[in-house]
Amino acid sequence: MTTTILPPTDLPLDSILPNEPLLLMGAGPVPVSQKVAMANSVVINHLGDTMSQVIERVRLMSQYVFQTNSKHIIGVAGPGSAAMEMAITNLVWPGRKVLSIQNGFFSARLAEMAERNGGVVTVYDVPLGEGAQPEKVEALLESGDFDVLTIVQGETSCTVWNQELEKITKLARKHGVLSVVDAVCTLSTMPLEMDNWQVDVVITGGQKGLASIPGVSLIAFSDHVWPTIIERTAPMPHWCLDVRLARQFWEEKGYHYTAPVSGILALHEALRQVCRETLESRFSRHKICSLALQASVEAMGLKLFVNNESRLNSVVGINLPTGIDGKQVLNTMSALYKVEISGSFGLPIVRIGQMGEQSRAHNLFRTLHALGMSMKHAGASIDLPSGMAALERALDVSDNITA
Ligand SMILES: *Cc1c(COP(=O)(O)O)cnc(C)c1O
Repeated sequence: MTTTILPPTDLPLDSILPNEPLLLMGAGPVPVSQKVAMANSVVINHLGDTMSQVIERVRLMSQYVFQTNSKHIIGVAGPGSAAMEMAITNLVWPGRKVLSIQNGFFSARLAEMAERNGGVVTVYDVPLGEGAQPEKVEALLESGDFDVLTIVQGETSCTVWNQELEKITKLARKHGVLSVVDAVCTLSTMPLEMDNWQVDVVITGGQKGLASIPGVSLIAFSDHVWPTIIERTAPMPHWCLDVRLARQFWEEKGYHYTAPVSGILALHEALRQVCRETLESRFSRHKICSLALQASVEAMGLKLFVNNESRLNSVVGINLPTGIDGKQVLNTMSALYKVEISGSFGLPIVRIGQMGEQSRAHNLFRTLHALGMSMKHAGASIDLPSGMAALERALDVSDNITA
């Protein structure tokens, strides 16, 4: 007996998209500028002359954003996790020794990837809410014969910042260990100087710090790590993520796989915006906005999850008051105020992003108001006027935070 599959009744997207776009103030994806959105709607030939010029510019602008003279900048069709996997799978093979510095969910993912590639992983389990200590890392580096060290600059899941990153990556270099830094949520929101800090691999995604679209990521390899990749003799299990194949497209204008052209055009525009703004003013905008948000959340009567010194500015974690249901707060925020923020991976917090366009005065006022009203709605005791006043005071210091 044969069956015929009939088409489902017409399913217009309009019937499920909100009438008014929600303001994305969570841990990513983040809102994109009009230029990025327009670029993302264009499809061009992936091997034509226009595309090679786009790639050249993306690499050039990336050198500035990553602060590296290395030309080994490779794009990945895939999420930040695909860039993580590209870093790991090219440097870790059976028997390689990996020191994994773990502050939470994403740093643990790097360790899991290393294990899947046959690496022998040692974990430095950093206490929740703290940054990794260079002294502890140094002791571990001295006790083991490691090949690779992995670390996140910002652990988005629990909103922790590894404030001693520079010391740690320099220690790795001193001990002959290759360092892999996950900067998915932090790149272009706070300093990371790949060459000066002697970092070997920096990973980023599109949809967070860089304020592009999800699905196209970037990864930078130092000149120092490059021979390890090129001269590798161990079999490479991943075809798409093999840097030696990917460089045919990224460095030699040849074919590897059909590049995600629209996403790369979007990335071009996102990088261009960073270059025009300059890293210096972009860092300062992000810092002013995030500190203003933190001060106003506290003024409203809520508590921040992480102590001052290890607090990540790119994604701010806010404690849920006892008895308050985070899901309900998030639902009210999106239903009534059209603002979306993030829950968490099991912790009693909600998270507000401060990446790219999220760090603008008008978005902060709307988000803080929505958060305060929705917390009140859920039964929390909130002093919203004090919070709003604190935000206004804190943002008054600068006018480069508006669009
Ligand atoms: C979001 C994130 C990732 C994973 O990125 P995806 O695009 O979701 O795969 C990795 N590391 C950090 C620090 C992140 O914030």
